[in-house]
Amino acid sequence: MSANMEDLWTRIQSQCLEAFGESTYQNWIVPLRYKDFLTGRLVIAAPSRFVRDWVQKNCTQKILNFLQEQDKTILALDFIVEAALFESQTSQKNVSRETISDDSTSLFDEGIEEVSSRLEPRYTFEAFVVGKPNELAHAAARRVAEEEKVTFNPLFLYGGVGLGKTHLMHAIAWHIRKNHPQRKVIYLSAEKFMYLFIRALRFKNVMAFKEQFRSVDVLMIDDFQFISGKDSTQEEFFHTFNALVDQNRQIIISADKSPSDLEGLEERMRSRLGWGLVADIHPTTYELRLGILQSKAEQLEKPIPARVLEFLAHKITSNVRELEGALNRIVAHSMLVGREITLESTTEVLRDVLRANDRRVTIEDIQKKVSEHFNVRLTDMHSPKRLRSVARPRQIAMYLAKQLTSYSLPDIGRKFGGRDHTTVMHAVKKIEEIQIKDTTLAEDIDLLKRMLQQGN
Ligand code: ADP
Ligand code: MG
Repeated sequence: MSANMEDLWTRIQSQCLEAFGESTYQNWIVPLRYKDFLTGRLVIAAPSRFVRDWVQKNCTQKILNFLQEQDKTILALDFIVEAALFESQTSQKNVSRETISDDSTSLFDEGIEEVSSRLEPRYTFEAFVVGKPNELAHAAARRVAEEEKVTFNPLFLYGGVGLGKTHLMHAIAWHIRKNHPQRKVIYLSAEKFMYLFIRALRFKNVMAFKEQFRSVDVLMIDDFQFISGKDSTQEEFFHTFNALVDQNRQIIISADKSPSDLEGLEERMRSRLGWGLVADIHPTTYELRLGILQSKAEQLEKPIPARVLEFLAHKITSNVRELEGALNRIVAHSMLVGREITLESTTEVLRDVLRANDRRVTIEDIQKKVSEHFNVRLTDMHSPKRLRSVARPRQIAMYLAKQLTSYSLPDIGRKFGGRDHTTVMHAVKKIEEIQIKDTTLAEDIDLLKRMLQQGN
């Protein structure tokens, strides 16, 4: 018989690390405590029923085998729940929330860890350039960051990729951290939220999961579109959401679409999301793009010619992330080869990006713009009607599709109601000819082209 059962238990615990793997070990084995040894039965205390039930179900036999290899007098293994153990662990955690205790079973600590590790230092309000397309979202974000009173809940930010949603959320978190360090802010991607929830489900830990979110002052969920459609996660989010709103905690959500356009969203969730303030971030304008480039260029050591910035703002219209990437590339290139940045070197270095951005104009965009401009119906772009008043705009749209996209003639034909490639070819020729004679139309087309290229 072992002289000291408690020591034996400690040895067995570390044996479990190898047998069960790191995460099971950390979550389920580490919180267990040796309690007693009575008439051949080893008694182990678990901090909660969740942990007890899970360990009992999944680990009993293996652990018992380990024990019996060491000590034949051990006949059985009993698990009991000892809440006191749990309480002392929790209160200890509350004292130092920032430190992640080693014997933690809490999902929430991971959340905290994520908040501290994933906030991007560059994403502050100071570094955010405000323009028409993002002024509402920016004002709302500022308001939420500065006010301790909850005025609109949730704040729902939406817009296309690379337009600054994540930047604004991090900026809110930074601001609150600096000015109200006592407030608890959680920033999570929707995927992370789902992952944590599914894990809680698997480990029958949902209650604890919920409780942990309820102690938050500000909860941010980024890229919410990834939650929609996943029923159980949506349901759980809904409950957490309601609980937090009832307690007057601030919730901030971002997504690529508005609540009404998000697919796979339950109706009550959708309507609840729209209760607060819904702020959209529009695609960038030339002015905003130039402003962003200028502000980024100011932080660089070498000045960049204004012409180059204007050229980039004009050409790279997809989103801010690509704009930044382009700027970084020309700067890196110029440092590497030790040459000044010029318009020529810029076009050279960014050849692929520039081409991709030209290609980004879609045929749908073209059809929409053209039909608006000439006041015909969008369906006329696909219809077989030959009436001049609709056929001409359709030809112009085909011409622009050829000019502004990399689609082949047959591809373009297909997108215009399944027309033949020769029809497209004819349209392109025709419009080229007309433009020479009709300068008004030429100007119209030029204007359309520029608007489409700038994504306006
Ligand atoms: P989203 O989350 O909407 O996809 P991000 O917040 O990740 O977009 O923004 C993409 C990049 O563009 C980031 O590096 C961000 O700092 C930058 N950015 C976006 N909008 C602005 C802006 N208004 N001012 C300065 N930088 C911006
Ligand atoms: Mg983002």
